[in-house]
Formats: sequence, structure tokens, C-alpha cells
Amino acid sequence: MSSTVSGEDYVRLIRSLSPTGGNSATAVRAANNAWDAWERAGVSRGADTSEIIANPDPVFLSYFDDIVLANALDKSNIHYCYAKTGDLNAFACTTSNGDYVIVFDSEFQQFIHSIVITSIVCVYSKPTDAQVEFYFRYLLNEIATFKRFKHANRVTPDDFTAIITRDYDLTMVGSYCGSAIYAFIICHELSHNTMGHTRKHRMQAIAGHNGTAASVSANDTSHIEEYEADSMGFQYYCEVVKQHSTLPNLRINTQFLSMPLVFFRLLEVVEQLFPVSRTTHPAPASRHAKIQTQKEIAGMHEDTEFHDALLELLEGFASWCSENSFFPLQNPIPATQTGAIHSIFGTDQNHPTQKS
Ligand SMILES: [Zn+2]
Repeated sequence: MSSTVSGEDYVRLIRSLSPTGGNSATAVRAANNAWDAWERAGVSRGADTSEIIANPDPVFLSYFDDIVLANALDKSNIHYCYAKTGDLNAFACTTSNGDYVIVFDSEFQQFIHSIVITSIVCVYSKPTDAQVEFYFRYLLNEIATFKRFKHANRVTPDDFTAIITRDYDLTMVGSYCGSAIYAFIICHELSHNTMGHTRKHRMQAIAGHNGTAASVSANDTSHIEEYEADSMGFQYYCEVVKQHSTLPNLRINTQFLSMPLVFFRLLEVVEQLFPVSRTTHPAPASRHAKIQTQKEIAGMHEDTEFHDALLELLEGFASWCSENSFFPLQNPIPATQTGAIHSIFGTDQNHPTQKS
């Protein structure tokens, strides 16, 4: 056994436990257990490493760099990796040598983009009732697929290709909205590190779903710490918005200030479909309310069009799920014929514009 646990050690371990392809919900948990064993064995703290892991995800790093830059944080000992947890989640931990490690589910980012782009296309493309039904069914399938749920209507690559090629501008707007949510989640996880939560409890997550590392760190103070990480994370996020015009990568302007609120509403709908036994995290509605209040106190100017559009879409989707008795989702979900959507699209719609 090494005498020092560094961020690189942890990333190496978690990667070795997280095979590509299969669902390995135990990867993070197993890595956590191994880590606990190291700590119990009295592993000493070593010198901080200034190295970033080899081949880091370029998107994450570019966002992360901007968040660090906008908030004048020290990024010398941050590590990042993907793990296939099969959960709508991200995690933060601090290793015994003081390194910060942030772990994302390997499909999380793609999932967020798929959901948000589809939602934006649905809102702005003047869909017929049949098209709305298709989009809602697509969203349901995406959430079910992400949860590894057995169901008859697997989303096909052709379906998503048809959605993202429907209108370039709409896809770009959706992509910006998704990126903003991704950035906020990084801010939240980073806050667990900078506020010392991960020093005390080792592992924190963005969502308190079953069967993930979140349950490992269950404790009486976790709700308070989640609110703190949301609050500090939103502060980091607001700095990124304020400085968007001078940051090299993240161009999250005031049209995207409220995207964290969209994320919590999405989380709420997901939890209506897949109820969780909650121990570590407050309910999404409660987290939404606190960020809403914080945003109002901050009093920043914003353009709420995309937020309003996405919230309206999520309300419609939630109503549709409720009317079809999908809350909670039964396994397998009822089959319907959705078919290819290429032929049901019209040719004209209004374009929202992304302001720079
Ligand atoms: Zn958290």
C-alpha cells in the first residue's frame, strides 16, 4: 500500500473499477470503501500534486478553468474523472494528501444535453400535438434509458439525429442551456471541496439518489452542506455569468442565469418518475426555492426567456406523465409506436436568438 493517497491514485482506482460499456453503479462506492480502508490504515498526508490527470476531458477542463478564473480560486490540486455510475449524479471528494477530485457519471453530460436540446426544439418549433407527444415520449425514454429501465421504446440514434438536425440555431441554444447546467454542477461539486465538506465526509454528490456514493456519506449535516454547496456554487456560477464576455470558454450570459433552477426542476420530475428514499439530500423543490431566493437577493439583470420556455416545457411534460399515470414509472413502461420523426416535421419556425 502506498503511504500517500493522491487525487491521481483515486482517479486511477475509480477508473479501474469503472469498466466501459456495462453499468457499474458500484464503482464509486467500491472506490470509496477502498479509500476508507486506506484511511483506517493510517495513510499519511503527502505533498500536494500540481499535476492534472492525463487526458482530462477537454470540455470539463475548459469550463473548470473559467470557473476558477472568474472566482480567483487555486486550481493546483484538482483532478477530474468519469465513472459509469448509471445515475444522474456527480461527486466530489478530497484525498488524504489534500487533492480535490470531482467525478461525473460518464453519461451525465450527454444526458443533460439530450434532454435540454429536445426541450428547446419542442418549445420553439411550433410542434403539432403529435410532435409534442413524440418529444415527450423521447424525454421519457431518455430518462428511462439513463436509469437502465427496461422498456419497449428504446430511443434510437436516428431519433436524436432528427431532433438536433431539425434546426441548427435551436440545437445551439439547447446546447448552451445544457452547458450552463453542466457548469453549475461543476460549481456545486467544487464548493463541497472549497468549503471543506469533502475533508470531513470525503464524498459528496449533486443528487441523493439510491445506490450511489451519496449514501456512503449520509450524515445529519448533509442537508445543510448541500444547501451550502448550492449557495456557494451559485455564487461561483454568478461570477461566470458576470464575466462571460472576458472568459475564454464559458459564454454563459444573462440569458442563462436561471439554468440551475431548470436543473432542480428536471431533478424533481426525474424523482417523480423514479422515487428515491432520501437521506443525504434535500428535495429538489426545496433547493430550487433557496436558489430562487438567492437569485432575487443578488438582483442581477437577466433575460428569462429560455428559463421560462424550459420550465413551461417541463411543466407540460410532468402533466403528460401524470395524465398517463407514469408517476412513478412502472417497469416495463407501456409501449407505443413512435416511429421515425423525420416525416412529421414541418419546415418553418421562429428562431430564438443567442445574444452575445
Ligand atoms: Zn452536493
